[in-house]
Amino acid sequence: MKTVVLDARWEPKKDFKLGKKDIEGKLTYLGNQVWRNPKLKVAEKDVPKIGPTEVLVKTRVCGICGSDVHMAQADGEGYIFYPGLTAFPSTLGHEFSGVVVEAGEKAINKRTSKRFERGEPVTAEEMFWCSFCKPCADGYPNHCENLQELGFTVDGAFAEYVKVDARYVWSLEALKGKYSEKDLFLTGSLVEPTSVAYNAVIERGGGIRPGDNVAILGGGPIGLAAVAILKRAGAANVILSEPSKARAEKGKKMGVDYLIDPTREDFAKRLLDVTGGMGADLYLEATGLPDRVFPDIEKAIWEGRALNSTVVIVARAARKIPLTGEVLQVRRASIVGSQGHSGHGTFPRVISSMASGMNVLPLITKKIKLEEVPENILLLQKGCPECKISCVFD
Ligand SMILES: [Zn+2]
Ligand SMILES: [Zn+2]
Repeated sequence: MKTVVLDARWEPKKDFKLGKKDIEGKLTYLGNQVWRNPKLKVAEKDVPKIGPTEVLVKTRVCGICGSDVHMAQADGEGYIFYPGLTAFPSTLGHEFSGVVVEAGEKAINKRTSKRFERGEPVTAEEMFWCSFCKPCADGYPNHCENLQELGFTVDGAFAEYVKVDARYVWSLEALKGKYSEKDLFLTGSLVEPTSVAYNAVIERGGGIRPGDNVAILGGGPIGLAAVAILKRAGAANVILSEPSKARAEKGKKMGVDYLIDPTREDFAKRLLDVTGGMGADLYLEATGLPDRVFPDIEKAIWEGRALNSTVVIVARAARKIPLTGEVLQVRRASIVGSQGHSGHGTFPRVISSMASGMNVLPLITKKIKLEEVPENILLLQKGCPECKISCVFD
């Protein structure tokens, strides 16, 4: 079968020390400290063989994620941009949907509590949590200490077939009859990124009450999926701060009420204008530029009259954030970090929201074939205006 594989050379930087769970030459938790000269190619591989708890899925759609782009991108010294857990060579792809073609005898479908059957439309979590470590046992699979990741350390779904343990697999049966077959699988491939947004604004951010105002900073796929979720949750006004015209326009399609271009206008002033001086009840940092946007958020919280605002950090960034404790104290505001998409009933709720009319399809702006995945990953490295580029299989 055809696959898209990323390979790179294991050449740790001088001051890099092998971590406790790193495996010399193979796996590291700090990708950008180790992997050099990333190379993407279309490669032929065998169809995976499944174990008793696994399912084999024939892939129908798989989207390109920002992490795919950063894993395949090298800095001036040739090291990959992506800072996280990686083991190369690996078949990329983790935002996928497909159809079950084979299931192990103990591969249980959570929809029926019985063994998976051929033909079930499915998607899967990307985080393979172990279920044994303390965070897992405490109910925090997004913080698993023995994590493996589909398309990062385990062969992913830019492949005609992908195998996944049934515990991570979710049925898309609920979307049948609500979408055309084509749109069902396109929508199904968006469950994973939408769940990242859901985990951020609902699970970690505590959700909103109908009538609340929310501000989304950054109109990438996660920020825009959050727009759809919060609109569905009853937000009175969703305000998107995003300098790119194409992304701002896309935001409108997803339900944004007011747009702010932070490079041309004062974010806090405009936010207060459109919320009657209140500011937002929930802020989502989805830019990856916290040092740039936090002063704006802080100003809005300080000058606005809303108490109890929550700021959720979902974008990954190593940069320090300038903060004034006084603002958080006086305004009863809080800041929380958000990671992952697993657990807490998130996947099934995202799927049932999609089944009941939450349309995230506008996120997909370009459809390609498997052979075109490498060139499109490179295109995204140059900062093209596309939102989600999705690989559609025949
Ligand atoms: Zn992703
Ligand atoms: Zn675990």
